[in-house]
Amino acid sequence: MSNVMKRFGVILLFAGLFAAVGFLNMESPVVRADDKAAADPNPLVAKWEGPYGGVPAFDKVRVEDFKPALEAAMAENLAEIDKIAANPEKPTFENTIAALERSGRTLDRVQTIYGIWGSNMSSKQYQAVESEMDPKLAGFSDKITQNEALFKRIEAVYNSPEKTKLTPEQQRLSWRYYTNFVRAGAKLDAAAKTRLSEINQQLAKHYTKFSQNLLADENEQFLELKTEADLAGLPQSLKDAAAEEAKDRKLTSAVGAVANTRSSIEPFLTYSSRRDLREKAFRMFVNRGDNGDAHDNNAIITEVLQLRAERAKLLGYQTHAHWRLENAMAKTPERAMELMMAVWKPAVARVKEEVTDMQKIAEQEKAGITIEPWDYRYYAEKVRKAKYDLDQNEVKPYLQLEKLREGMFWVAGELFNFKFTPVTNVPVYHPDIRVWEVTDKTTGKHVGLWYFDPYARAGKRSGAWMNSYRSQERFDGNITTIVSNNANFVKGKPGEPLLISWDDAITLFHEFGHALHGLSSNVNYPTLSGTAVARDYVEFPSQLMEHWVETPEVLQKYALHYQTGKPIPQEMLTKVQNASKFNQGFATVEYLAAAIVDMKLHLAGLQRIDPDKFERDTLAEIGMPKEIVMRHRTPQFGHVFAGDGYSAGYYSYLWSDVLNADAFEAFTEAAGPYDKKIAERLQKNIFSVGNTIDQAEAYRGFRGRDPKVAALMRKRGFPTK
Ligand SMILES: [Zn+2]
Repeated sequence: MSNVMKRFGVILLFAGLFAAVGFLNMESPVVRADDKAAADPNPLVAKWEGPYGGVPAFDKVRVEDFKPALEAAMAENLAEIDKIAANPEKPTFENTIAALERSGRTLDRVQTIYGIWGSNMSSKQYQAVESEMDPKLAGFSDKITQNEALFKRIEAVYNSPEKTKLTPEQQRLSWRYYTNFVRAGAKLDAAAKTRLSEINQQLAKHYTKFSQNLLADENEQFLELKTEADLAGLPQSLKDAAAEEAKDRKLTSAVGAVANTRSSIEPFLTYSSRRDLREKAFRMFVNRGDNGDAHDNNAIITEVLQLRAERAKLLGYQTHAHWRLENAMAKTPERAMELMMAVWKPAVARVKEEVTDMQKIAEQEKAGITIEPWDYRYYAEKVRKAKYDLDQNEVKPYLQLEKLREGMFWVAGELFNFKFTPVTNVPVYHPDIRVWEVTDKTTGKHVGLWYFDPYARAGKRSGAWMNSYRSQERFDGNITTIVSNNANFVKGKPGEPLLISWDDAITLFHEFGHALHGLSSNVNYPTLSGTAVARDYVEFPSQLMEHWVETPEVLQKYALHYQTGKPIPQEMLTKVQNASKFNQGFATVEYLAAAIVDMKLHLAGLQRIDPDKFERDTLAEIGMPKEIVMRHRTPQFGHVFAGDGYSAGYYSYLWSDVLNADAFEAFTEAAGPYDKKIAERLQKNIFSVGNTIDQAEAYRGFRGRDPKVAALMRKRGFPTK
């Protein structure tokens, strides 16, 4: 589980109201500021041209074009909406719901590229645009959901006796529109609507600031390694990466530097034998956004929680958590809490055992210490070696990023019949990015495009994620999926194969699972396409894919030593498999602590919250082991405070993991991970259906029954009763 708690996991660029994809060829009146190009239309609003049904024109993006492009696209979308709302004809599915699916295409294209820049290419110039435009975009979205005439038409279609004549997918789409509008305040009176819109715009402002503060602490802070002695314990690959980092930061007298990001800090905490430096690195990392300086996030969090609580009340819900979970698979915060607490107890018990094992090693070494949070990863690694005779550094030479990528492609071929072919005929936003065309292995039919952006860079947020550039749809002609996988691997020495850790290999497959979910989509309407499913369900396909990295088929063919080309020895493989339940106490507790705090913050209602105190009190109340901190402390909890997306929703990873563990057992109960029949059922019921059917029903279609929690307990090595 440790590997799946990415900052966002998946970004869904527009769940719900606005359709995806290039449809309208907008000849924008907007012109660039400079005289020379004054006659050119803003390239951002143009229809995507080129092969594969059009691709994003990343080569033409200029930050100064974002604002006029967004404004023009919003104006265009409002005009479309007004036209739908003012239609003199009786409301029908076609003239209302389908018309809405056709609208907003320009805005969707612009927002897609705008989002890509925010996550991958951020700069001071971009951030200024973001600060100005995000509240405007929030206000814009309210203008649509608060359009009374439009809502009346949606409601009429939804309540019409004619509805039974629609296809099940069209009925579900009508339901989605109706509930999304109601949940966004369509039924409120005018005064409440005004207040709601104010709240949404203020929240958008806070979210932007929160992310910018976090990015600043991650980019600007670092740990300087001054002398050779500061490198003690680090394997050569980390020494090299630290040296590169110091060079990038122009620290001419230092031997290395550790960036304040997860991908740099965690390996340092695992290997550095300098306890004083581990503590320094640890404190720097867990205090991101919490330093009482210009980038401190605490005041923002208090405001966000207040505004969310007020909004929930306005909308008629007990709390923000109740509002958020209504359409999730869990349905209520109580059900989510119940699952979390059921897993919490055995996880804490396991942590006690893990700490005992670590303390023993510290005593054998006569270290004279008591295990502290900055010791956990370091001693866990020693226990791993002692108990399983497994040294992560011995595994790493077999884990070449590019070979594993080929392994993922092979798995996608086995399970989904996909073939990946590299292409160079589409523009990219940075020379590091590569693109593959996905086709059907048997028919050769085009399926979509997969962009791969694996390396860390300044202006890119930390973590790993999938992004959907274009969703599959069919109702107005075939439009295919475009997705990306992004990560933050430290590039290391040029010309040498990039070696990654076992955890990173699992993350790679995880994010690829999201991509396959998007690529497998086979639906009619973009709002219901691919990964546009409930938040506590969306991690299920991606977590499921993690299992395949551990299959002997992948490891024997693709886990090849970077120097000898020899596959990972069976003996080492067995060790890796034996150690798979290792440290699950830690992984589960650091995750669950964050998920429980998230839920409790959003169940607390209108009280004014001091985030530091609330976090401390909540952790004390649930009996947080003192050797562990939350995976994301509140002031850096981007999932929850950089947007609404995962607010009261961080539990989703656990909820999805219940489905994941139970679903994988369908394979192991049959012929194994490559059982063709089970893979077919998976594709048919889970990966291809998007949000066209209820998710609990989709799961039953695959498994023949509801999921059981016992599989999750077995997967983590916890007692099942
Ligand atoms: Zn994910």
